[in-house]
Amino acid sequence: MNIIMLGAPGAGKGTISTRLNESFNLPHISTGDIFRENIKNETELGKLAKSYIDSGKLVPDEVTTNLILNRIEKDDCKNGYILDGFPRNLVQAEGLEKSLLNNSKKIDYVIYVFADENKIVDRLTGRRVCEKCGTPYHIRTLKSKVEGICDLCGGKLIQRKDDTEEVIRDRLKVYNEQTKPLIDYYRKKGILREVDGFDTVENVFNNVIKVLGLK
Ligand code: AMP
Repeated sequence: MNIIMLGAPGAGKGTISTRLNESFNLPHISTGDIFRENIKNETELGKLAKSYIDSGKLVPDEVTTNLILNRIEKDDCKNGYILDGFPRNLVQAEGLEKSLLNNSKKIDYVIYVFADENKIVDRLTGRRVCEKCGTPYHIRTLKSKVEGICDLCGGKLIQRKDDTEEVIRDRLKVYNEQTKPLIDYYRKKGILREVDGFDTVENVFNNVIKVLGLK
């Protein structure tokens, strides 16, 4: 099953993708995680992406789309995948669709995780992520078992540079202007499924697997 997770930054796409990956073994492909990994390793891609990410802007479409098109060709995507954070605008969505069509493939479902903006700001300023594996936590609502340490891999929990209030406002602006039109784009195709992102992780996850017909 090929799935896109759609929603504002901080709506909970990453957390749900991690859960889907654990339960159904579908690769969780997060463009943000791939960029951050490249920044950490100081690759050419990382150098290019850094200034965009630090200011909350989108990395150029061609770079991002090619990155994803190559990634979903890999062997582990044979039985499906979860795209988290891609596509983020119509150019990317159309690039993906064209390439999938050429290969007689398609996206099966788009999960739109909706959330209130003020709650998002609170969620993102309190977010911490594992430096090693990217698993997200929250200082109040989703604590790790041992403070500052990832439950899954023992990595250190850090605050992302772009999780400050100022950059969050810019990221939300980009989301409202560029990503939101994708809701209608996929709704018209009949593959959009909606879930509330501000419930407990367990409830959001259960709703997602219900709308995917996996329960
Ligand atoms: P995320 O972890 O999904 O919040 O992404 C963090 C940052 O990575 C975004 O604010 C963008 O700068 C960049 N990014 C992630 N996904 C994309 C995408 N599909 N297109 C362009 N830039 C992206």
